[in-house]
Amino acid sequence: MNCEAPRPGPAGLLDLRLRDGAQLALFLDFDGTLLDVAPTPDAAVAPDGLTGLLAELSAALGGALAVVTGRAIADLDLRLAPYRGAAAGIHGAEIRFDPARQAARQAAALDSGVLVEIRRLARFEPRLLIEDKGASIAVHFRAAATAERRLERELTDYVAASRGGLRLLRGRKVFEILGDGFSKGEALARFMAAPPFSGRKPVMIGDDQTDEPAIQACIARGGFGFTVAGGFFRADQADFAGPDAVRAWLAELAAPPARSGGQGA
Ligand SMILES: [Mg+2]
Repeated sequence: MNCEAPRPGPAGLLDLRLRDGAQLALFLDFDGTLLDVAPTPDAAVAPDGLTGLLAELSAALGGALAVVTGRAIADLDLRLAPYRGAAAGIHGAEIRFDPARQAARQAAALDSGVLVEIRRLARFEPRLLIEDKGASIAVHFRAAATAERRLERELTDYVAASRGGLRLLRGRKVFEILGDGFSKGEALARFMAAPPFSGRKPVMIGDDQTDEPAIQACIARGGFGFTVAGGFFRADQADFAGPDAVRAWLAELAAPPARSGGQGA
């Protein structure tokens, strides 16, 4: 990391916003950031108040809020209904700028032969959960921790044999096979190039290695990246202790700032 200037933490950023009226663009990972990681992806349920909080925040930020997730956007929408906002899904393989419109695909679905091969590689452990998301295939090993090493080796070899067509992404208790040319960082850059995000200071909050490209993209644009403890980031180094701390901070950010005669945001 190459950050020599002291940077404000989450509390400092709230102060900065109050003092300077800093216009923020907010990017939020979903699982492990806005809600606790569930035993399986399907079991994740948005906690009470989260959908209302996101709607309130999005309005407070002039629409400059996007959830940036490894899930497909359609899956995200189901879990956050009735909230529907700007979003990047499948690690940036799909992007929806305007909530009223369809998501734009940034990458084609993987060839069906990839799924066949991954199913074959994962056959050694029946508790591995294979999730086909079209532009990516996730293999979750949360229920089969002892399978991690062999799975990583098998997938690494498979990706190497693809000669550049595929890459392997590591997340919390999951490996993911994806094509090239997209990432959460690329998605963030796309959002920042267009209104209502452009010209604002980007802030990304994430809990995983897969969020790092987006965190770096924020820092490169003079913004901030905040981390959430729970798996990848150590508790003594992360900015937030867990998703409940993130939600409490977001609620403060959404609340109308107490101003003494200043301009409205
Ligand atoms: Mg996450």
